Amino acid sequence: MYSKEQQAEMFEQSKRFLKTQPSPKDYPRLVEILNFHEWKYYVDNSPLLSDKEYDNLYEKLLQLEENKDVIILTHSPSQRVSSDLSNQFQTVQHYNPMLSLANSYNIDDLKDFDTQIKKLCLGTDRPIQYFVEPKLDGGSIAVVYENDIFVRAATRGNGAEGDDISANAKTISSLPLRAAFSEYGIYRAELRGEAVMSKTNFDKKNKERQYEGLDLFANPRNAATGGLRMKDPMETRDRGLDVFIFQLAYAVDKEGNELLSGFESHDKAMAILSQLGFKLPYDKNPLTHDIHAAHAACEEWETNRDNYQYEIDGAVVKLNDFSLQQRCGYTQHHPRWAMAFKFKAKQATTSLLNVEYQIGKTGAITPVAKVEPVQLAGVTVSSISLHNEDFIKQKDIRLGDKVLIERAGDVIPYVVKSLADLRTGAEGYIEFPCTCPSCNTPLLKSEEQAAWRCMNPKCPEQNLQKMIYHVSKEAMNIDGFGKSLVERFSEESWLNDISDIYNLDYDKIAALEKMGEKSASNLKESIEKAKGNSLARLLSSLSIHHLGKKASKLIAAEIKSVFELQDWTEENFIEIKDIGPVVAQNVMQYFSQKEHIDMLRRMEQYGVNVKQTDADRPVEVADDAPLKGKTILFTGSLQTMSRKEAQALAELYGAKNISAVSSNLNMLVVGDKAGSKLKKAEALGTVEILTEQAFLNLIES
Ligand SMILES: [Zn+2]
Repeated sequence: MYSKEQQAEMFEQSKRFLKTQPSPKDYPRLVEILNFHEWKYYVDNSPLLSDKEYDNLYEKLLQLEENKDVIILTHSPSQRVSSDLSNQFQTVQHYNPMLSLANSYNIDDLKDFDTQIKKLCLGTDRPIQYFVEPKLDGGSIAVVYENDIFVRAATRGNGAEGDDISANAKTISSLPLRAAFSEYGIYRAELRGEAVMSKTNFDKKNKERQYEGLDLFANPRNAATGGLRMKDPMETRDRGLDVFIFQLAYAVDKEGNELLSGFESHDKAMAILSQLGFKLPYDKNPLTHDIHAAHAACEEWETNRDNYQYEIDGAVVKLNDFSLQQRCGYTQHHPRWAMAFKFKAKQATTSLLNVEYQIGKTGAITPVAKVEPVQLAGVTVSSISLHNEDFIKQKDIRLGDKVLIERAGDVIPYVVKSLADLRTGAEGYIEFPCTCPSCNTPLLKSEEQAAWRCMNPKCPEQNLQKMIYHVSKEAMNIDGFGKSLVERFSEESWLNDISDIYNLDYDKIAALEKMGEKSASNLKESIEKAKGNSLARLLSSLSIHHLGKKASKLIAAEIKSVFELQDWTEENFIEIKDIGPVVAQNVMQYFSQKEHIDMLRRMEQYGVNVKQTDADRPVEVADDAPLKGKTILFTGSLQTMSRKEAQALAELYGAKNISAVSSNLNMLVVGDKAGSKLKKAEALGTVEILTEQAFLNLIES
C-alpha cells in the first residue's frame, strides 16, 4: 500500500505538522497523512503515532477545516461523521447481485464440487486452484467507490437491492474513505465485505452496557448487524466495528467497460485491494492447488477458530481464476464456482422437558427450558433461557419438542429452533403464566417491552434477587456477603427486603452453624462500611429497571437526598443530559410506591447514607466561568462545530445542557433551520436567544 520511503516521509511530515501550524495549502496533504495513520492503526495494526499525537494532528485538521479558504474534502477523516442527520435507509440496487453460497460439510461434498467444476471447465489449460478464506459471522455489506472516493455502502438486503447505510459505514475506521482505484484504471468499484465485532470488543461493550443498564448483545453477529442499522451514525461508531473485504465484485472504467476479468484471478484482485488499504481477514496467501489442500485449509481454520479474534462459522472455497469462474457461472441462488464449508456445528438436538419461570431483580419473568442433558461444545447443558414469551411464540416452541440448540464461542446456549417434523402429537403448548410464580400477583407488560413483570414491591423471590444484587461487588460491595448468605438468612426469615440487611442480629449470626463470632463481626464491619456509600451507589443498588450506574450518577449529582425523587416529574429527569423518558418512567414508578419509600426510610434509620456525598457532586467549575450556573440548549444545525462539541464546550464553561425548552432554560443557541424549540422559547419570553457566533463570543469574553 505505502512503500517504506512513503511511510518514512509521511511520518516525518506528521512530526513537522505537529510542531508547526499547517496552512490552508497544506490541507490536502494533511488529509492524506491522517488517512495514512488511520490505515496504520485500523488495518495494518502497527500505528506510528501515539494516540495523543494522532489526536493533536486531527485537531489541527479540524482547525484548518474551519478556515474559509479551505474546501472540506469528502474523504477527510472528519467526514466519517459528517452530520447529525439520521439514516433514512433508502433502498439501493447492487451493481452485482449478492447471492448466497451453497454449503458443504465434509470432504465428499468438496470432492463433488471439484468434479462439477472440472466438468464445467473441461478442455481449459488454465490452472484449477482454490482460494480458501474464513467465513466471518457478521453483517454482509456492498461498498461502492467512485473516482477513488467512498460513495456508498448497502446491506445485502434481498441480494438484488439492500438498504443504504452509507452514513453508518463511513464511521467504521477500517473502511478507507479514499482508495486509489484509478491507478488500476477503475472508475467505479463495488466490493463485498463483512462488518464484524471482535470477541474482545463484544465482551467490553457488554460490560459497558451492563454498567449503563442497557440490554446485553446476544452475540457479536447481532451486535454488528444491529450496529449497521443504527439511526444515529454516532451509535454505529461507538460500537467499534471492523469491516473485512472478501471480494472485488464489480469494476468498470469511466465508459462503463467491465474491467474485472483483466485482474485474472481472485488472489490477484485481493492483493490489489490490500494494496489499496482494505482489511483482509487472513495474513498468508490462502491459495491451494487442489481440493484436498483446500479441505486441509478449511480444517485448519476450524481447528483455530477459537483463537481467531472474530467469530467464524465456516470457510469459503473459491475457484481462483476469473475466466474459469465465468465459465462456471451461476445457478439462480448461488455461484457454481464457490462453496461454503460449514464447520461442525456447535449444535445439538435434545428434548424440551419442562419450562420454569425465573424472577429477576427487576421483576422480569424469564422462561427457562429444562432439557434432557446434552453435551454441547464440551459442556453439559440442561437448562436454556427462552428469553420471553415472544421468543417462544415466534419459534413455536412446545413442551416435549425436539429442539436444536447451539452455542457459539463462549456465548451461552440458545434454542435455534424446534424440530416440528419430529412431533408425535403429544406435545403441549407452553402456557405463559398470568401471575407471578412467587407471589401470585398478576403480571404486567408494557407495549415496548418483551418481558412480563411482577410489580409487587413485596414479591419474595424478586426481593431475594434484589438483595443478592445489592450486596454484590457491583452494587454496595459488602465484603464477605454473597448469594449463599443472603439465601441462608432469608431461610431464617431475617431478610425480607434490602433494608433488613442493615438490621441484622449479629449474635444470632454468630450462633449459626459454620459462622462464629469472627465471621459475624467481619460481616458487621463490611455492612457498617457499606452504610457510608455514595448516593449514586445506593441508587444503582436498588435494582430499578433501566437505572444503571451512569444514570444513577447523573441523578445523584442533582439531588440532596434520595427522598427528593418522590416529587420529581418526567421533566426533571429529561432535563439531565443522557437521561431519557424510559429511565424517568421507571424511577418515577419506583418512587411512587409507598413500600419503597418506607424501605428507604428504614435504611436511613439504620444508618445507611441517603444523602448526596462529596463523591456525588460534579466537579466544580471556576466561579468566573462565563456560563456558570446557566442552563443551555442548542437547536438547529451549527456551522462551526458539531452539536456534541458545542455541548462539551458549554459544559466546560460552566453551563448545564438540558434537552427541552421549559421555564428552567436560560439560554437557547440557535443554528440554521431552528424549528419548534425556537418558537417555544420566544413564546416563553424568559429565554436568552443567541446565535452560534454570539455564543462563541460569550465564552471567549
Ligand atoms: Zn412476584
